[in-house]
Amino acid sequence: MTPRQIHIVGAGLAGLSAAVQLASRGSSVTVHEATNQAGGRCRSYYDSTLGMEIDNGNHLALSGNKAALAYLDIIGARAGLTAPPSASFPFIDLATGERWTVRANDGIVPWWILDPARRVPGTRLREYFTLAKLLRARAGATIGETISCSGPLYARLIEPLLMSALNTEPRSGSATLAAAIIRETLAAGGRNYRPLIAYNGLSNVFIAPALRYIADHGGAVNYGRRLRQLAFGADRVTALDFGDVSIPLTPSDAVVLAAPPAAAKSLVPELTTPTESRAIVNAHFRVVPPEGLAPMIGVVNGMTQWLFAFPGRLSVTISAADDLLDLSREDLARRIWSEVAVIAGLAGAMPAWQIVRERRATFAALPRQEAKRPGAGTAWKNLVLAGDWTRTGLPATIEGAIRSGAKAAEILAPL
Ligand SMILES: Cc1cc2nc3c(=O)[nH]c(=O)nc-3n(C[C@H](O)[C@H](O)[C@H](O)COP(=O)(O)OP(=O)(O)OC[C@H]3O[C@@H](n4cnc5c(N)ncnc54)[C@H](O)[C@@H]3O)c2cc1C
Repeated sequence: MTPRQIHIVGAGLAGLSAAVQLASRGSSVTVHEATNQAGGRCRSYYDSTLGMEIDNGNHLALSGNKAALAYLDIIGARAGLTAPPSASFPFIDLATGERWTVRANDGIVPWWILDPARRVPGTRLREYFTLAKLLRARAGATIGETISCSGPLYARLIEPLLMSALNTEPRSGSATLAAAIIRETLAAGGRNYRPLIAYNGLSNVFIAPALRYIADHGGAVNYGRRLRQLAFGADRVTALDFGDVSIPLTPSDAVVLAAPPAAAKSLVPELTTPTESRAIVNAHFRVVPPEGLAPMIGVVNGMTQWLFAFPGRLSVTISAADDLLDLSREDLARRIWSEVAVIAGLAGAMPAWQIVRERRATFAALPRQEAKRPGAGTAWKNLVLAGDWTRTGLPATIEGAIRSGAKAAEILAPL
């Protein structure tokens, strides 16, 4: 029986994805969000130091992210993402000053690796074939146990790619999750890994259109509504307790719990959830990107890992950045700016800057954490989980979060 009213706890991408899918199927949805804004870890806000809207973190999606694109199609926002015409990734090595661009071909046969001008300088063809080992990785193995984590291909392509996709130092990262990334990107042909960037802000693409869609389909989003407790019957959730408000559930009502793992665990103590996380540091500088600067540049042998050029701003992403959390903001800004000036060819004093540290940006993509991810279903008939930390088969990503919401919707209101 299709549930009458579906309550979605958490207005991050997973919760919004569930809400949008359910609303599109005619379900009546109410989203409850603890904070005063939607978007969770993928949102924009006005930064008064920079005097402009920025994102809580630079986010990259890929053209092969099917669930994310399907979600954007439903809410009518796909055009908000910009993609280059082909999968090309400019890099710089700060130790040697070398610059190169990896340029993949669109099709599934990766003939680009035969062309020394398109592949990573200093790499040999056979290095690329070692990646196949990752696709056959033993469950529970680390990447370091599966492939050799040394040599030019590793340092100049595999490590930067996996560091950002897993937000975990790749050697200790889950080979299974790395394989999922390789399978959906490098092994799927360049047309599946064109970088997609929301130049005008994450919220304009992923969040605001979803909120409009939910409202247009009769749904509601309540802010400042932190779920404090779930009341459980023998096999169902019977009420939602928000402290000041309690909502009793009828036998046909259902709940999608799309809060982060620690919050989900405190609401449902029986759950096993990932417990370790990794930080991401972003540095933003208010400066007009020089003409001709690539929208996104991979950086090796630096503190900077990726440099993004946004309108009026240069932004740096550093994944698995836990070691940097003890540095002062000023120190971080100065050190990162000295690299940005080299990469972008800028002289002069450091412009207005902002450092954003997301301490628990994602769960740590380690085999032991992967083993703790629960599936979407629970022991309670009307309670379904969603979130990038549930067992999506992917690391914590936009695509994983959106897939998890779609899966929750499919369980509660199958097509
Ligand atoms: C800095 C940074 C950079 C990133 N870069 C990328 C990238 O480049 N590419 C990529 O694919 N992914 C990236 N990610 C990961 C991506 O942002 C996440 O995977 C995704 O946003 C997670 O969505 P979610 O809905 O699962 O969780 P969340 O976004 O955490 O949403 C959970 C929501 O639940 C709410 N909540 C919590 N407790 C309660 C409660 N008790 N009651 C009600 N509401 C509650 C929270 O306030 C939040 O809004 C990045 C993440 C960060 C932090």
